[in-house]
Amino acid sequence: MNRTLTTCRHLYNDSLAERKRKAELNELERTFGIIQWGEPEWIEYEDQQNALPLMKTSYQKEVFSQVLQNVLKRVDRSFQNFFRGFGYPRFQGRNRYNSFTYPQKGFELKDGKPILSKIGNIKIIQHREIEGKIKTCTIKKDIDQWYVSFACEIDEPALAEIKTEIGIDVGLSSLITLSNGEKIEPPKFLRESEDKLTHEQKRLSRKRLRSKNRKQQAIIVAKVHRRIRNQRKDFAHKLSRELVDTYDRIVFEDLQIKNMVQNHHLAKSISDAGWYQLMNLTEYKAAYAGKFVEFVNPAGTSQICSSCGNSVQKELSVRVHSCPFCGLVLDRDHNAAINILSTVGTTGINARQGLSIESRCSGTLRGFSPE
Ligand SMILES: [Zn+2]
Repeated sequence: MNRTLTTCRHLYNDSLAERKRKAELNELERTFGIIQWGEPEWIEYEDQQNALPLMKTSYQKEVFSQVLQNVLKRVDRSFQNFFRGFGYPRFQGRNRYNSFTYPQKGFELKDGKPILSKIGNIKIIQHREIEGKIKTCTIKKDIDQWYVSFACEIDEPALAEIKTEIGIDVGLSSLITLSNGEKIEPPKFLRESEDKLTHEQKRLSRKRLRSKNRKQQAIIVAKVHRRIRNQRKDFAHKLSRELVDTYDRIVFEDLQIKNMVQNHHLAKSISDAGWYQLMNLTEYKAAYAGKFVEFVNPAGTSQICSSCGNSVQKELSVRVHSCPFCGLVLDRDHNAAINILSTVGTTGINARQGLSIESRCSGTLRGFSPE
């Protein structure tokens, strides 16, 4: 599996280099007028896919052909993302490129054991029952652990009747406020792990460059990172499960709009706190249960009075909403959460519904990234 991963990574980097070179060549030719002006030629996914079987290296022959094709797909997807406004595709280092995918066939699940073409049988600990029809199989490496994930297709569930609904305000701190006034804090151990991370990172910075100690310390840091990632995900899984079980319609503010409006520092704290993850998990769990998740434009939700609708301007530091028009006094975030819930339906254009996660996963440039 390590060898497959390395082969895939090299193919990724080579294909990326090839497309990049062609693009630069086009630029040169245009600049110096070497060729006639006209449509420049590009290397496309199809070109690389057609060329692949003709010039396979001995390493590539050891890898199932569709796995290699999927690598080219990933390169293509990262270019498509670039054309949609995300960053230019990057070369992948050993620590960054960590998965390969069987997109259609070449794998099988027999008596709870995956059999991978060109690799063999592997033992696994199965965390979840498989439902529906298996479509793809992805193998992912996480430092010293390997994961296998299957993407499955299931039938669309019947839509639930909306009897209960809730609006959610996500705060600056790692805290969320519900429109019923409830506040939810992330578990304490998450904070503790983050302290540990700071500690281990300090130790890392003191180690001599390229020393053996430094390498070992880097692994320790990576493992603390992993623990935090897992704890966060665990928290987000539990919270989203609770939300979806309790409410038929869940309304969030659209962070994409919010990030555009507000400053960079705030945007960072939002992504750090893992709000996107919480929203994504809630969204897919809701879709699975036939329930609804909606995203509304957050403009004004913290200023408008949830009782009388008048605008009550206040700085970010003012934590209490106190309305001079109707006398309502409420926690600032609670007021915002109520507004978020009541915005649904009134601003139809801004409300998005359903599984449109893709556009918000700006971090997954490599395309498919298994859970
Ligand atoms: Zn009021």
